[in-house]
Amino acid sequence: MPIVLTGIVPHPPILLESIGKEHRDKLKSTLASFQELNQELLKNKVDTIIVISSHAPQISRSFVLNLGKLENNEMIYQADFEDLGDFKTKFTWKPDIYLSYKIKSYLETRAPLQLVNQDKLDHGSAISLTLLSAGLEDCQVLSLSPSDLDGEAHWQLGRLLKEIFSNEDKNIAIFATGDLSHRVDETLNTEQLNFDTQLLRYLEQGQGQEIAKWDLEFVKQHSACIYQPLLIMLGLLEDYQWKFIKLSYEAPFGVGYLSGYFKLH
Ligand SMILES: [Zn+2]
Repeated sequence: MPIVLTGIVPHPPILLESIGKEHRDKLKSTLASFQELNQELLKNKVDTIIVISSHAPQISRSFVLNLGKLENNEMIYQADFEDLGDFKTKFTWKPDIYLSYKIKSYLETRAPLQLVNQDKLDHGSAISLTLLSAGLEDCQVLSLSPSDLDGEAHWQLGRLLKEIFSNEDKNIAIFATGDLSHRVDETLNTEQLNFDTQLLRYLEQGQGQEIAKWDLEFVKQHSACIYQPLLIMLGLLEDYQWKFIKLSYEAPFGVGYLSGYFKLH
């Protein structure tokens, strides 16, 4: 099976040792989940990790695939955390150019997709990849952005990606990276359950379709940057029998951080 792992991870900068320092302790469970997912990636000999982040480059009415930038005759992605006050930590990854063109040509008449060339990855992708790809030196990466299109368009993109990936010989892992509600500590409107509680319940009950029905205003109120990447993931999983395995959920700073993966049958 070419899709070897599909998961959800958060991306608070304090997960990185150089930034989080002693505050990292407050996200112990999340860090342990990243380690577990990293072990799974190593065990499954993953060739390519696709990371879907709402903070990656945006183009109106289109999804975006970033191919990195040419440097010393090869395409690369770079990650640094200077915006977050860390001037030392730097990483590079190689984009999977082969797969990006496969995606581009398959989507040509099926979904709006634009290619861009930016070497620097957004912080969501960079933090997730730093923790997920430890020890995976030969692994390639692709950075995909959701769009301002509706939920159905995201779901449909997921379906199409599944059609592409299931015909590949490579071992592919896909991660939706994002935080859940930024209002975990607030007393919410009693008409609606807490965003995170509902999301987790639907995931654990295998009811992805229910999540797709959510009003975008509700999502916006919670500033949950996981939502669109998650819809792509759920569309991709539509034809599978899946069970969501929660590895951790914590919200020590009032923002929900969920880590887990979809066990495929
Ligand atoms: Zn975010």
